Order: sequence, then structure tokens, then C-alpha cells
Amino acid sequence: MSDYKSTGVISLDDIEVPSDERLKAGPVVIIECVENIPCDPCVAACPKEAISMDIITDVPDIDFEECIGCALCVTECPGLAIFVVDCSYSDEKCKITVPYEYLPVPDKGEMVYALDKRGDRVQKAEVVNVRQSGKTYGITMEVDKGNVWSVRGLEVME
Ligand code: SF4
Ligand code: SF4
Repeated sequence: MSDYKSTGVISLDDIEVPSDERLKAGPVVIIECVENIPCDPCVAACPKEAISMDIITDVPDIDFEECIGCALCVTECPGLAIFVVDCSYSDEKCKITVPYEYLPVPDKGEMVYALDKRGDRVQKAEVVNVRQSGKTYGITMEVDKGNVWSVRGLEVME
């Protein structure tokens, strides 16, 4: 368990992470929801019942084998705590889908700054997909494989 309660920055030690084998098999969800808050839109959003809770204050329980990486849950989480990573198609690159609620919204093909959880720039990345649900967007970027566990946001270039 990291010191996220004092820093606000959740680490891999705090969450469930798919196995290397599952990561190689295709896109898969990453959920960074660690507080026992009364919230469950992620459960209803999933068409594969890959996210479950016994009671509404549970943290989400994830079945990585059932998840198909559709990213429908990414835009339904009010805490902006859900991401989808796809490290299955390349030895050097991964795609990551992040929730985004700022303006302007980047277009597919645009270069943006990929940010870490502190908001620091990690690298330049190409936007490879943009989807919208309500006022929340799911922006998919392609990043260097080594950066997929640190990138969790983006900044549009001036
Ligand atoms: S990415 Fe799709 S299949 Fe996976 S947990 Fe989210 S909604 Fe369910
Ligand atoms: S919708 Fe988001 S904040 Fe709410 S329980 Fe699910 S992952 Fe956590």
C-alpha cells in the first residue's frame, strides 16, 4: 500500500493489475478506485459483468478474464478512475484510454502531451481514438510501452 492518502497519487501497489499474460491477450481495464465510497456506475456500465461489488461501498472487484477492453466504463466513472490499456499489439508501444473532461477536446491524429497522475508531462503522444458519452470523453493515445503505467491524462498542445 502506498502513501496515496497523503500524496493523492495512487500507485500500482494500491490496485489490482492484470497479469503479463492477460496484458498480452488484448485491451483490458485498469481501475484506480481505492476508497470505500457509495458509488457503482462502473458495475452497470460493463456489458460483460467484469466489474462487481457485494455492497455499494465496496471497491470494484475486477474479472480481467471477462473484460474485453471496450472502454464503456471509462466514461461512466464519476471519479475518472478507470482506464483501458492495450499492450497486445507491439513490443514498443501501448494504447491507453483515459477519461477527459476539459476543453478543447483533441481530434484523432492530433499530438498531445501525455501526463502522469501529478499532471507532469511524460511524453508527446498521438491521439488514436476519441469517443464521447455525455460530457465525458474517452481519449485513446499511443504511448511508449514503458510509460503506460505512469500516463493517466493529457494536455492539448497550444
Ligand atoms: S472495459 Fe468494457 S468489458 Fe472491461 S470492465 Fe470496462 S466496460 Fe467491462
Ligand atoms: S464508478 Fe468509478 S468511482 Fe465509482 S465505484 Fe466505480 S470505479 Fe469507483
